[in-house]
Amino acid sequence: MTDHADAGIAQRVRALETALEGRGIVDGAELDEILDRLLTGATPRNGARLIARAWVDAAFRDRALADAHGALSELGLSMDHGPQPQLLRVVENTSAVHNVVVCTLCSCYPLSLLGPSPSWYKSAAYRARVVRWPREVLAEFGLRLGDDVEIRVWDASAETRYLVLPRRPEGTPRCTEDELAALVTRAGMIGTAAV
Ligand code: FE
Repeated sequence: MTDHADAGIAQRVRALETALEGRGIVDGAELDEILDRLLTGATPRNGARLIARAWVDAAFRDRALADAHGALSELGLSMDHGPQPQLLRVVENTSAVHNVVVCTLCSCYPLSLLGPSPSWYKSAAYRARVVRWPREVLAEFGLRLGDDVEIRVWDASAETRYLVLPRRPEGTPRCTEDELAALVTRAGMIGTAAV
């Protein structure tokens, strides 16, 4: 069964979440926390390790862009946590290109590298709007990109998932790999924040 075959279930779960939120029983942030606790091991620290290594090691960065799975295995990480193999692709931000990830159909996402997806990632509004108006949606997240920056929107699927390689922040030439990893956020690896 693919994630997209699960889309009906995902819709019902979203309807339930919305109903619970509407009655003030839970809120999206609370649900995210519960799932965070349930899914230990699936954490954005994993993705951050890959990003930090790519920042300090150009050859590793090249390998990650060409073969994300090979790069993951160098770090003892993997995407193999379900019955179906998932292809991961790392997409690199530059001064000219900014990448952002969405799953327009449901909520496909590299869970093992980013931890549970935030509730906004699963929202109909994000999924519909970021494709049409990426610049405006990113601005709503507080990320204002110049008109000269091309925005690429990657539509994840059950088969292929994406991880954004953010630009290394200014002023970090002396940072260690661990210090750099601590700067990387989940939103940065989805593409809705700079880092
Ligand atoms: Fe999906």
